[in-house]
Amino acid sequence: MALSEDKINEIKKHLEGLSPEEQKAKFQEILATLSPEEREELTGGTGQQQCPFCLMVQGQIPVKKIYEDDVCMAILDINPANKGHMLLFPKTHAPLLSAVGDADVGHMFKVANMLAKAVFEALGAEGTNILVANGAIAGQTAPHVLINIIPRKQGDKVSIGWQPEKIEEAEMEEIANKIIAKTQSIKKETVVIEQPKKIERFDEEDLRIP
Ligand SMILES: [Zn+2]
Repeated sequence: MALSEDKINEIKKHLEGLSPEEQKAKFQEILATLSPEEREELTGGTGQQQCPFCLMVQGQIPVKKIYEDDVCMAILDINPANKGHMLLFPKTHAPLLSAVGDADVGHMFKVANMLAKAVFEALGAEGTNILVANGAIAGQTAPHVLINIIPRKQGDKVSIGWQPEKIEEAEMEEIANKIIAKTQSIKKETVVIEQPKKIERFDEEDLRIP
């Protein structure tokens, strides 16, 4: 039995105004009440469509969209650290940044930089943090990789920091060597730095602030 338009609209209503985390929880709750066929229809059968960010890409969850192109989309975070806090993410589902192709990672950081420039002028930001939490241990709560762009101002309440650790010189050397060796082997695996496949050129005029 197919889902009616009304039922889909009702589901969307339930998700409106919730944070990505809340949307995910609510969506799981809604899924549990559906028949397997209805669930299949709603999730497209892949399971990834349960990801709130994939649903946003499909236009199934309302968002305050700031920017979109073939590769990525940026929205206002509805639980912002500061006014103008944006979430930029690939339109293809990827749980971690390492699952995103090099060309798209490069493209997304260009877009992140553009959005960071925009908030300096549009919102009078005095600085920005461009942050990616890779993995739950690093504070990632969404199932989809997100680049956070957080406008900063003198005296704001945003806290991003750590206590520096003291590490002996010999251990520093050992750590550096381990990372260098691994970096070189990863680099060998990806000798060809591909050009962005979908974006021919990048134009700042593409930026749209509603
Ligand atoms: Zn996703």
